[in-house]
Amino acid sequence: MHKTSETLYSEAAATLAALKDKTLTPKDRMAIPAQEMPTQDPHVRCHNMTEVALGYSAEQARVESMRCLQCKTAPCISGCPVGIRIPDFLKAAAEGRFDEAVGIICENSLLPAVCGRVCPQETQCQAPCTLGKALKNPELSVSIGRVERYVADLQRESGKQEMPAIKPATGKRVAVIGSGPASVTVAADVRREGHEVVIFEAFHKPGGVLVYGIPEFRLPKAIVQKEIDTLTAMGVKLETNFVVGRTRKIKDLMEQDGFDAVFVGTGAGLPKFMNIPGENLVGVFSANEYLTRSNLMKAYDSARAHTPMYQAKRVAVLGGGNVAMDAARTALRLGAEEVHLIYRRTEKEMPARIEEVAHAKEEGVQFHLLQNAVRILGDENDCVKQIECLRYELGEPDASGRRSPVEIKGSEFLMDIDSVIVAIGNGSNPLISQTTSGLTVNKWGNIIVDETGLSSLPGIYAGGDIVLGAATVILAMGEGRRAAASINSYLAK
Ligand SMILES: Cc1cc2nc3c(=O)[nH]c(=O)nc-3n(C[C@H](O)[C@H](O)[C@H](O)COP(=O)(O)OP(=O)(O)OC[C@H]3O[C@@H](n4cnc5c(N)ncnc54)[C@H](O)[C@@H]3O)c2cc1C
Repeated sequence: MHKTSETLYSEAAATLAALKDKTLTPKDRMAIPAQEMPTQDPHVRCHNMTEVALGYSAEQARVESMRCLQCKTAPCISGCPVGIRIPDFLKAAAEGRFDEAVGIICENSLLPAVCGRVCPQETQCQAPCTLGKALKNPELSVSIGRVERYVADLQRESGKQEMPAIKPATGKRVAVIGSGPASVTVAADVRREGHEVVIFEAFHKPGGVLVYGIPEFRLPKAIVQKEIDTLTAMGVKLETNFVVGRTRKIKDLMEQDGFDAVFVGTGAGLPKFMNIPGENLVGVFSANEYLTRSNLMKAYDSARAHTPMYQAKRVAVLGGGNVAMDAARTALRLGAEEVHLIYRRTEKEMPARIEEVAHAKEEGVQFHLLQNAVRILGDENDCVKQIECLRYELGEPDASGRRSPVEIKGSEFLMDIDSVIVAIGNGSNPLISQTTSGLTVNKWGNIIVDETGLSSLPGIYAGGDIVLGAATVILAMGEGRRAAASINSYLAK
């Protein structure tokens, strides 16, 4: 049953009142009810673009933080890619010292309001949580991300976010290519040292996937914009509509425009396709294009946006990752009557976050597991009319460790569909490597860097998805932090 935010908030207030002056034993902490995240009603939210998760109340944040056992081993810290002192921030939050809590997070993370929303905590910091283990249910681990989100939002909304101090100007210039989480982190850390920083972004708006990929209903764009505003207030310059490799090459930036170092954070924005017949028909999109139209170009706001969105009643989304969930849930919000998510394996192997899968189901996305599209069929106008699918069963584990899908011969069947969104992954765009001679990449086109983030060329660093392949926001930030430290010591020499 969907509990309203009012119910959850008042339950938490009552729990807090009962716990407030008690010295909590581990047994007491284990008995505290896990705090559910209030959400918009699924029947309502599938028709709007506003955020699904409504956020904790102060009482919920405190009660949830009290569940932390403050265990000595703190396995959550090693589960966090940037090593946040999680038990310390939870202790501060449990005692209502929210400013201190967010301060602890910000020692290691520049984007807590973003990470609190989109980090896959269930496979990172929350996976090894001692409480989850003691209760024999990983879903009952402390909801670290939700508390992080609460304290970060509180700080942002109170206007108390302090601008980092900037050291005196060094006269050194750093070009940061791309404006996703890796680049934003580099720009902030390098600027703090007093270096001049210019971000070059191909799109007309900064933020990378946080703006063009992840939909508004999961990550409000105003939150990302606030982080960008902080950067510009720090004196970071921003050049949008600037495609490095086309507008200027890296060589020009370094040899003619006076940049002493370059960071490449261009992400993994090149969509992969299925290579099946019919993929060129009208009504077939990469998830990348579909989400970019909707998010970056605001096509969902049809009364005001100039970008058209393909009208479709029966949409098929191919894939099982976060991108597929985002595309499917966006299609529902854009007016599709049926959205069919088609995935070759079972739900267990799906790379998408459990929460995103649950939200997609609640909203009415229909899951077709152990199936895959093998052909797209068009009508007389070359518009998508049907897809042909095959059924699969699971075989032996493949290189990824997941059981591989094996097709069942003769199991073909047709589905009436009028738009197909392909969401089977993204690769790296080869533009930078093709226009920068001597820059070494691996067989997938990802830039090869050493343990400091340095590429094969002096002064050129890289990090985030362009190095890791499509990964996560927090890993991109971690890479950015590492590269920024190397750039700062390179420029100090
Ligand atoms: C739809 C979607 C949903 C996702 N959901 C999640 C999630 O829930 N949780 C999570 O942790 N991760 C998620 N991810 C992954 C995560 O967003 C990425 O791992 C992360 O954004 C990578 O950061 P980055 O800084 O390396 O690059 P990006 O965020 O990809 O930013 C790269 C930027 O570089 C720009 N650029 C590219 N080439 C050039 C050029 N030649 N010149 C100038 N600029 C250029 C691009 O326009 C872009 O703005 C999702 C990804 C997608 C696509």
